[in-house]
Amino acid sequence: MTVLEADLAIVGGGIIGASCAYQAAKRGLKVLIVDQAVPAAGTSGACDGYVAVSSKKPGLMMELAVASKQIYPEIVRELALDPEYMAVGGLLVVEDPADLEALDKHVAALRSVGVPMEFLDRPRMLDLEPHLSPTLHGAWRCPVEAIVNPYRMTQALVASAVARGARTLWQTRPTGFETAGGRITAMETSGGRVVAEQYAFCAGVWSQDLGRMVGIDLPVIPRRGELVVSERGATYARHYLMSAKYLVAKADPEAALRSADPRARIGHGFCLEVNAQGQAIIGSTRAFVGHDRSVTAEGVAIILAEAIKRVPALARAKILRVFAGLRPYVDDKKPIIGRSSQVANLLVAAGHEGDGICLSQITGAIIADLATGRAPTLDIGPLSPDRFTLPRAA
Ligand SMILES: Cc1cc2nc3c(=O)[nH]c(=O)nc-3n(C[C@H](O)[C@H](O)[C@H](O)COP(=O)(O)OP(=O)(O)OC[C@H]3O[C@@H](n4cnc5c(N)ncnc54)[C@H](O)[C@@H]3O)c2cc1C
Repeated sequence: MTVLEADLAIVGGGIIGASCAYQAAKRGLKVLIVDQAVPAAGTSGACDGYVAVSSKKPGLMMELAVASKQIYPEIVRELALDPEYMAVGGLLVVEDPADLEALDKHVAALRSVGVPMEFLDRPRMLDLEPHLSPTLHGAWRCPVEAIVNPYRMTQALVASAVARGARTLWQTRPTGFETAGGRITAMETSGGRVVAEQYAFCAGVWSQDLGRMVGIDLPVIPRRGELVVSERGATYARHYLMSAKYLVAKADPEAALRSADPRARIGHGFCLEVNAQGQAIIGSTRAFVGHDRSVTAEGVAIILAEAIKRVPALARAKILRVFAGLRPYVDDKKPIIGRSSQVANLLVAAGHEGDGICLSQITGAIIADLATGRAPTLDIGPLSPDRFTLPRAA
């Protein structure tokens, strides 16, 4: 029987598991990544790549984003594969001057954690982004933001972890865990038995099933987001563009239930990036439809109509493809990052919703800190897996 030994066995090879693997391997741990498919087969291969701080809720989420954004360029420089990281900056476009008061508070919170924000009035905004509609009121610019190709970033992190000694088991699932004295003593998988000092669960929208296998509740649920991709063409925008109203769709899932407006019902919020290939990736929606990754005609129609309102030249864009991914959503809108007190050698990093690409780097650093007995630089108490109650015995 094959027995694989490791210091840290990571279940999940999306961007979160890949970042944990890279950081842990960099600190000298013997790492094993186990994934039921291949790297970036889940949400990390079905999303866009905004490394955003301006969209984060003030408090811990904003601090995590600032910390992750800070270390991103340095990690990118260490990788052998180019993940198409581009420091393009972000624009929060303001459609309605009535939103300015709420935005002022948000901007003050960003500035208080050292994030530079600059208001662009309409002429200045159009100067920087000539394809934006002159009907827009203006924009808040965050010059330190970036975009990255999430698929390539995941692949690059895995490749660099492997270059530092990590091993991988693709198309392999845990079939059972042995536990004793509140610890995992072994993980049986379809590829053999794994015996590790510590384990990390980084399973995105599949976390709940994995948690149940060791008796802990990881209440991550899928929240679908649809995206439309254009063929290469005009550079519709230099910055990552996001509607100020996007923040509302993201932060308030109940808005969809209250509203008769189909845009709110499907959780629409405008966003657009032009990737390294010159394609516009246009989004997006937010809906709780289980693991359904299909793309709806209504979603595409609304995404395109709303995008054309803000970037009229998109009316002539050729559409290449549409796709949807599942954001790993947690009801209290915080990711689950930390050590389980119920299973002492288990670390969890999951539930990053629409922020996992941005937060991946700080998440990997935190998990590597915990795995090597160091205190993380941020107080991650509120992210603890212990904040959910244990499921009742059936
Ligand atoms: C439309 C859309 C747009 C987005 N845009 C952005 C953005 O601009 N910026 C940003 O920061 N974030 C964005 N996100 C969010 C981001 O994509 C996610 O937060 C992130 O990809 C989650 O990564 P993950 O590694 O946790 O999950 P995943 O990438 O899903 O990885 C989980 C992995 O675990 C594996 N797995 C699961 N269960 C098991 C098991 N039992 N055994 C073995 N393997 C298992 C899966 O195969 C998968 O590979 C977006 C998401 C969507 C859907």
